[in-house]
This record gives sequence, structure tokens and C-alpha cells, in this order.
Amino acid sequence: MNSFFLDFRDPLFSIIIFLALIFAITFLSYWWGRYKTKGNSKELDKFLQQFHTLPTENELKILISSGELSQKSWLLLANSYTKSGDFEKAIEIYLEILRLPSRSNEKETMFLLGKVYFKAGFLERAKQIFLEILHTSPRTPQALHYLLLVYEYLRDYTSALKVLEPLDELNEAIQKDEIYLKNLALLHDSEKTQAEKTSQILSFYKEHHQLKYMVFEYLFANDPALAWEHFDGSSGELLIDILWNLPPKALNLAIITNNDFLRELYSARGDITLSKGSTIFELDVLIKLQNTPLQANLSFEYSCSQCKQSYPFAFKRCSHCHAIDTQTIQWSIVKNYHTIFNKETDSFQ
Ligand SMILES: [Zn+2]
Repeated sequence: MNSFFLDFRDPLFSIIIFLALIFAITFLSYWWGRYKTKGNSKELDKFLQQFHTLPTENELKILISSGELSQKSWLLLANSYTKSGDFEKAIEIYLEILRLPSRSNEKETMFLLGKVYFKAGFLERAKQIFLEILHTSPRTPQALHYLLLVYEYLRDYTSALKVLEPLDELNEAIQKDEIYLKNLALLHDSEKTQAEKTSQILSFYKEHHQLKYMVFEYLFANDPALAWEHFDGSSGELLIDILWNLPPKALNLAIITNNDFLRELYSARGDITLSKGSTIFELDVLIKLQNTPLQANLSFEYSCSQCKQSYPFAFKRCSHCHAIDTQTIQWSIVKNYHTIFNKETDSFQ
């Protein structure tokens, strides 16, 4: 029986104790490691949690008034909120800065607040802010430009045109704004008939020869015969989307037949068969696709030549950089889903 029990002086006993110690140490360090990792992860989660929720209005008030961060840091933070589209938070920061007893950067902060109000669509508030800035500092062209935009968005074209006077005195370029605002005022004048509007916008265009896209978009939509009568043969590419989307009954075949670009454009659309090809790749492909089962169409994309911003729709004033008449049109070939859908619908009838 004694052979089953080990004497503590036996070398085998020491080895067993040694192995037991190694196991205990390994086991403890494993659990300590797991405990620490869990603790660290909890601390990190807690730390990161602070950034998932934005500070409340009260928290901002305490943080800004405590002066722990400089005004410049708060302005940078508000700017990044504006860029990410969180206008409400940016407005809260600007308002809190303006409530501080220190009046440093007051005009600049008010201007930034006005810009955010404008971006967020609070046009009346933006107007009040810019008017307040101009009341104390009338020679502030940036505030005048934004006030003009606010009036334009509010469709108060008379007030917008009045803003041009001080801008002119400050030697700012106002010619395009003046023509654009006069056109808008005319097109939104409810007391004028459509015939009066088409005739007046055309006679005004003959004086300045600017904003061709705006003028001809209106003319082709409301009086295609008059638009063709005054159509300049070199404007085809500038007005390509308007021309491409004209209904067949609005086409003037006499003018189209005598203009290379128009002949190719309407041959590509399938209205006529006068061109067998085109130097413009997309039109050439569309002409070659005529009389084949493949259905294709032109799709248009618009971009601003000044700031390079792209839009899926036509524009007169770029909503990003606010430049007027800087639109360029790019076109590409797409599947003609409209025709395919109509054909499929017909086949079910
Ligand atoms: Zn632009």
C-alpha cells in the first residue's frame, strides 16, 4: 500500500509540485490577462462613447463660457459641423460665442452665423444677421453678396437689385447679377402675360447677349417658333439638352436641315435620316444604332466651370460657389429604358 504514496523527499514529488506551480502561474496569468483586456476595453468604450453623442446646448454653454478652449478652436469646430451638415450644432456654437462678454471677432462670428443660417434655409434669420452687420459696417462686400443671395432665394428681386448699388460703389463685379436678377424678376412677374415675358426677355437679351441658356430654355419651353427664329447656329452644344428634349412638333426642319450639328443631333434621335455619321462620338453611335433593335438615349450631367461641382440637373447660379452662368454640359449614352418599358407594356396588351 505504501507504494501508492510518495515520500516528500522523493524526487518525483518535487517534479509534481513544480508542474503544479507552473500550471497555477499559467492559469492565473491567463485570467489576469483576460480581466485586464476586459477592463481596458470597457474604459476605451466609455471614452469613445463621449464622441458618439454631440454635446447638448447646456454642455456647450458651460464648455464655451469656461474658456478651456480658445475661440479659434470653437470656430474651427463649428466650421467642421457646418461641413458635415450639422448646421444646428454650428449655430449653437456661434450663438454661444456671441453671448460671451468679450466682443472680439464679433463681426466675423456674426457673418459665419449668417452663412450657416443661409445654408440651413433659415433665410429670414440670415437676412437679419447680414442687415445687422451692414448696419454697423456698411462697406462689407461679403455680407452684401450674401444679403443679395438671401433676397434672391426669398424671391424679393427688387430688394436684391437694390443691394447691387452699394456693391457697385465698392467696385464689385455686378453685371451678371444684374442681368440674372432682372430676368428672374421678369419671369416671376405675375402681372405680365407669357407673351409679354417672352418678348421682353428676348429684347433684353438682344441688348446684353448674356445668359443664353437661361433665355433660350424659357423661349423653347414657351414659344419654340420664336426661339428657332432667334437661334444662333453655333449654340447647339451649349443648348444640347434643351434641343434633345424638344417634342417632335416643336422642331423647325428648315433650320435643322441647314445646320450640321442639328442635322446630326436629330438624326441620332431618329427624327430625320439626313446624317450617316457624326464627328461627335455619342451622336455617331446613336446614328449607327438607328434601324437596329438596340434602344439608346443621351443622358446629361452638369458641372460648374468655376468650382467643378457636378449636378444631375441644369442650373443658372451654382448653389456651391454662387457663380452665374458657369454651367457646362457633359453627355453620355444610356439604355433607353423609357422606350423599352413602353414596348414591354405594349406587348402585354
Ligand atoms: Zn460653382
